[in-house]
Amino acid sequence: AIEIKDLHKHFGDNEVLKGIDVTVEPGQVVCVIGPSGSGKSTLLRCVNLLEQPTRGQVRVQGVDVTDPDVDIDAVRRHIGMVFQQFNLFPHMTALQNVMIAQQRVLRRGKRAAEVVARENLDKVGVIDKCDAFPAQLSGGQQQRVAIARALAMNPDLMLFDEPTSALDPELVGDVLAVMRKLAEEGMTMLVVTHEMGFAREVADRVVFMDGGVIVEDGPPAQVIGDPRHERTRSFLSRVL
Ligand code: ATP
Ligand code: MG
Repeated sequence: AIEIKDLHKHFGDNEVLKGIDVTVEPGQVVCVIGPSGSGKSTLLRCVNLLEQPTRGQVRVQGVDVTDPDVDIDAVRRHIGMVFQQFNLFPHMTALQNVMIAQQRVLRRGKRAAEVVARENLDKVGVIDKCDAFPAQLSGGQQQRVAIARALAMNPDLMLFDEPTSALDPELVGDVLAVMRKLAEEGMTMLVVTHEMGFAREVADRVVFMDGGVIVEDGPPAQVIGDPRHERTRSFLSRVL
């Protein structure tokens, strides 16, 4: 589970998160939506301490990641993260990209890492691209390799930050299908996305953020289908 309580984040005197409370229970999918600059990425980055929270509490699998004594590398091992930009190593094949962190971080042997890499590349539908370099892959294929790389670390939960925003429209569906499958398998997921169809069909809850606060949090049928707040309505009218 992810439990975020009264989370504040300042960059200098710019308060970007102004007291955020979000809980993602095991096996749940929570989608975060909201306008550019509302703090969605910062929220996600505070969960695995890519950003240091200014105040408040973030617990991941029961561990308070803001505790100064926490072993952050141990915490991060439980968390898979997928970004808008795929961040694959350009000089490594798809297979090598999915093996490298397993070998370096989990100290898996080469053979074991390769077995796990192939399983996960198969799972995301790019097993035929094992030996291709990132530049030889479409954006959607690269993003699926990035998802396989995260899954190969056996994470307890996954964070996605607009994983389809950099993709050509015809490639978006393949990536969303992989994410949907993960959700069906019971992966705990916190997903920043503009894909309202995905949020509506897959999310247990949708959180609408604006200006560093949560304006609305509820089931997708309510937040997307019948929003209570004017700010949510006006945002949705721009993206739907
Ligand atoms: P988008 O939809 O465009 O990705 P977002 O909701 O993810 O937007 P954030 O990236 O979290 O928004 O940014 C929220 C605010 O925090 C912005 O005003 C941004 O300029 C500021 N910000 C983010 N990261 C930093 C940083 N490292 N240093 C200073 N300011 C930052
Ligand atoms: Mg962002």
